[in-house]
Amino acid sequence: MRRIGTRLLAALLSALLCALCGCGFFPEGGTKDVSAHERTLFAMDTEMDLRLYGDEDEACLAELAELLTRLDRQLSVTDPDSALSALNGAGASEDETLCALVSRSLELGARTGGALDISLYPVSLAWGFTTGTYQVPAEEELEALRGITGIDRLKLSAGRVELAEGMKLDLGAVAKGYAADLCRALAEERGLSGVLALGGNIQTVGRKPDGSPWIIGIQDPDNPGKFILTLSLTGSRAVVTSGDYQRYFERDGVRYCHILDPETLRPAQSGLRSVTVVAGEGFLADGLATALFVLGPEKGLELWRASSDFEAVFVAADGTVTVTPGLKELVSGGTFEVAGE
Ligand code: AMP
Ligand code: MG
Repeated sequence: MRRIGTRLLAALLSALLCALCGCGFFPEGGTKDVSAHERTLFAMDTEMDLRLYGDEDEACLAELAELLTRLDRQLSVTDPDSALSALNGAGASEDETLCALVSRSLELGARTGGALDISLYPVSLAWGFTTGTYQVPAEEELEALRGITGIDRLKLSAGRVELAEGMKLDLGAVAKGYAADLCRALAEERGLSGVLALGGNIQTVGRKPDGSPWIIGIQDPDNPGKFILTLSLTGSRAVVTSGDYQRYFERDGVRYCHILDPETLRPAQSGLRSVTVVAGEGFLADGLATALFVLGPEKGLELWRASSDFEAVFVAADGTVTVTPGLKELVSGGTFEVAGE
C-alpha cells in the first residue's frame, strides 16, 4: 500500500512538473528513491519543486526555500518593495546582487548580438505580459518605447547601476537560472544531491544515490503534459526551456508569446516553439534559452558553433526537433535530427 502510495505521489508530482515546466523531472527515473525529501513553494512567479537526497536534507530544503524567497523579494519586477523595483523607480542602485546580474546580463546580451535585452520591461508592460491584461500595442506606441529601451542607455560602473530617464529593467530571463546556481552551490556545500525544478528551469545537483542518470523530460509545446524527448544527464547540470507555450495570448488567430524580439519590440517569431539549453551554469542556460528563442534555429546554431559551454534542443514550428551533437547520445524517447549530420 505504502509503495503504491509513494508511486502514485511520484506520478502525480511528475504530472504536475510536466504541467508547469518547460522541462520536467521524472522522480522515478530508475532510482531506488533513497530517502528523498521534497518541498514545493511558489516563488519568482512560478511553482518550484525541490528534491534532495540525503539524511539531513530537511534543513537544507528550508535553507533553499529561504534563499529562493529572498531572491524573489530582491529580483521581482512586480513586487513594489523589491530591490529591482527600487532601481526602476529611483533610476539607480548600488545593490550588489543587482549590479552583478546586470553586469552578467550585459555580457550575455553582447554575446547573443543583443537578443538578450534586460531593458524591455516597458515593452512587456505595453503588451500586458506582466499584468495579464493582454493587448496588441499600436506601432506608434512601440516606436515611442524605443526612446526608453536599449541596454546602451544603461551605465554600470564601480558597483552602481544607473538607468536613463524612463528606463526599467526586467531580469525575468535570467533570475531563475541565477537562483538555481546559488541553490546548487548551497546543496553541494552540504554534500547533498538532488534535482531542483524552478518552473521551466531544472537544476540537477551531484550524483543520484543509486548511480543512475538524472532523467529530464522536454515538453511537447503542443501538449505540455507530454514529453517529446528525454535527456539523460549525470552530475550538476542546468536544463532550461524557453517556449511560446509558457505564457502567451492569442488575437485573431495569432499567438503572441512573452519572449520579445528587441529588434521589433514584438513577441519573437523565429520559427521556434521552444529551445532547451543544457549548460554547467543556470544563469547561462536561462539567458541563452531566452536569447536562442529570439535568434531562431540558424543563428542559434551559429552561436552554438562559436561556443563550447552549452548544448541545445530546438523545437521548430513544423515539429522538427534538432539537437546539437553533444546531446546526441543523451537523448531518447522521440524523433530528432542532429545538427550538422
Ligand atoms: P524566459 O522565460 O527565461 O525565456 O524569460 C522570459 C522573460 O524575460 C519574459 O517574461 C520577460 O520578462 C523577459 N524578456 C522577454 N523578452 C526578453 C528578451 N529578449 N531579453 C531579456 N528578457 C526578456
Ligand atoms: Mg531565460
